[in-house]
Amino acid sequence: MSEQTDPPVQNLGDALGRSMNYLRLSVTDRCNLRCSYCQSNAVHEYIPHEKILHYEEMLRLVRIVQPLGIEKVRLTGGEPFVRKGCDNFLWMLRQNFPSLDIRITSNGTLLEEHVGLLKRIEVGAVNLSIDSFDNETFAAVTGRHLLPRVLTSMDKLLAEKIPVKINAVALRGITEREIDNFLAVATMYDVDVRFIEFMPMGSDTLWNASRFCPVSELLALISQRVTLRPSNECARTGGPARMFSIVGKKGRIGVISPLSNHFCHTCNRLRLTSEGSLRLCLFDDQEYALRPLLRDPAVSDQEIASYLRRLTQQKPLGYDLLRARKGTAVARRVMSGIGG
Ligand code: SAM
Repeated sequence: MSEQTDPPVQNLGDALGRSMNYLRLSVTDRCNLRCSYCQSNAVHEYIPHEKILHYEEMLRLVRIVQPLGIEKVRLTGGEPFVRKGCDNFLWMLRQNFPSLDIRITSNGTLLEEHVGLLKRIEVGAVNLSIDSFDNETFAAVTGRHLLPRVLTSMDKLLAEKIPVKINAVALRGITEREIDNFLAVATMYDVDVRFIEFMPMGSDTLWNASRFCPVSELLALISQRVTLRPSNECARTGGPARMFSIVGKKGRIGVISPLSNHFCHTCNRLRLTSEGSLRLCLFDDQEYALRPLLRDPAVSDQEIASYLRRLTQQKPLGYDLLRARKGTAVARRVMSGIGG
């Protein structure tokens, strides 16, 4: 009898030759901040608790997708640490998946007490959303006077030598005025400071052209002050940020420009909303409910894996959706419901 070999596992890829190795896992849609760019005029309803994926279900999903090529998992939200048990989930992720690149995106307000754990699980990096280093401006943008707590978390992460990436949404009239503060952080510390273009997310989005600041303008302002040198980080990681080192300084500057200079052709990511729906593209409202499958004892891991492989084939080009949008918003959900 001829020896039987298992067929090779087919990774998660699409018709455009993109392969997915990165999963963004939204653990909650709830957040303790009220950032202006993350709100919309539409009535906002939180996902009811019973519809939120259990941590065990998320672990099972990671167990299914890791052999399909997912190497990096980012916890996001809402604010991940608003959800009870997030610490234990991180710990379980590390226990179950020793080689997984685990990351987290946080507003930093609740992070300080978890830094020890992040160190123990060897988190790959922490992305901190900080839109301003001025107390009053921070409060005006986020609705809360919590900048000091964020800065304490940042200091603690840096003291533990955990890589930090600071994300700031580029807002007209705010970010340009603060360019020196951002630059001071990027020159003093070994961190990435990345400016993200304001995206028109959510029905009745508060986005409008007068609040939009193209990141090219911020780069021009920075280049008047320091010498930037393009780095090949983006090509290496397939990430959306164009990164620059600052000659003679510790940190780096980056820009993420979905509107003015898109990066869809290298997109390597899948998103899972906290209610357990797969989103193939940030800008595409089509979602695929995995929760019923995960909760059906008759559905096997193999069946879910095959379904995911089929779905991934259909991943759209987000930029086409952005260009073709009718009205202002590109998607019905705001970012806190998707996870950024
Ligand atoms: N609470 C966490 C945080 O603050 O980072 C994670 C969730 S938050 C939705 C993820 C990222 O989305 C943040 O960096 C935030 O600044 C960004 N974001 C939210 N709405 C945005 C928008 N309309 N345009 C661009 N970035 C946005």
